[in-house]
Amino acid sequence: KRATLALLRDAPAETLDGISIRLEANIELPEEAAEALAAGADGIGLFRSEFLFMGRPDLPSENEQYQAYASVVKAMEGRPVTIRTLDLGADKSLDGDITVATNPALGLRAIRYCLANPEIFRTQLRALLRASLHGHVRILIPMISHMHEVHATREAIEQACASMDADGVAYARNISLGAMVEIPAIAIAIEPFVETLDFLSIGTNDLIQYTLAIDRGDSEVADLYDPMHPAVLRLIAHTINAGERAGKSVSVCGEMAGDSTVTRMLLGLGLTGFSMHPQQLLDVKNEVRQAHSNALRVKVASALNRAERIDLAALSG
Ligand code: PEP
Ligand code: MG
Repeated sequence: KRATLALLRDAPAETLDGISIRLEANIELPEEAAEALAAGADGIGLFRSEFLFMGRPDLPSENEQYQAYASVVKAMEGRPVTIRTLDLGADKSLDGDITVATNPALGLRAIRYCLANPEIFRTQLRALLRASLHGHVRILIPMISHMHEVHATREAIEQACASMDADGVAYARNISLGAMVEIPAIAIAIEPFVETLDFLSIGTNDLIQYTLAIDRGDSEVADLYDPMHPAVLRLIAHTINAGERAGKSVSVCGEMAGDSTVTRMLLGLGLTGFSMHPQQLLDVKNEVRQAHSNALRVKVASALNRAERIDLAALSG
């Protein structure tokens, strides 16, 4: 089976009815860019930058970050590289961080943490803007829940630019800025986000957790962690539709995107961008190439309108 999948590497990710699908890779470390390329990824859809910060006593310097980001950007040879700003907190924390929040998943994490620690954020933004001189960088903000966080992020980017202007440091301007859709509130009230931002990426891992009030890491309630819950699918559909109307790209970068048993369902929701672990890419491409996107959209929309569970078996063949 592996050998047949390998033949797929250079085949286009296109549905039977001619819809072109972007298949990108999720990476945690710069070295993994090679694996993404080997799998034929169209780009990096999610670089989880926090892994550069974890498991060490100090913070990575601007130069160290710049080298790491630039190495991925160069390796991807012009393909888009979506770098998520620091997503610390909850399941991912800094060494020696002894903060004990009552509800860490609802606490000072991700963009909230970065806006509360402007020095750390500015160092990362400077490194990202410098790295984008070498190719196509897109900045992705995690855990956005309010529009004012988008404005504050843009301001932080402007301040990072001003500080580099003052230092005479070269960087690329007009970098694209997108947000993770992983908090139900923004999926529900998506319009200002889709208008203001350049792209959206749906983080289903957290979106499911927050929609169903199920801790994604708690095995005692793991059976209730249900990616196929109609409420979750409606939030995904709503986000995709808003992106379509506004002409902005929307992808999914949570685990669902790499699960080939739900590829048809996601195509039926209208999804045209998937980002996943490189090892899952060819299986997903295989599904895409055998699917009829418009037929799936009709079936999935009618089930979602009735908030019915989608029967995956009825979508195949
Ligand atoms: C997600 O929440 O779906 C996601 C992709 O981010 P992470 O798993 O790193 O929280
Ligand atoms: Mg997340």
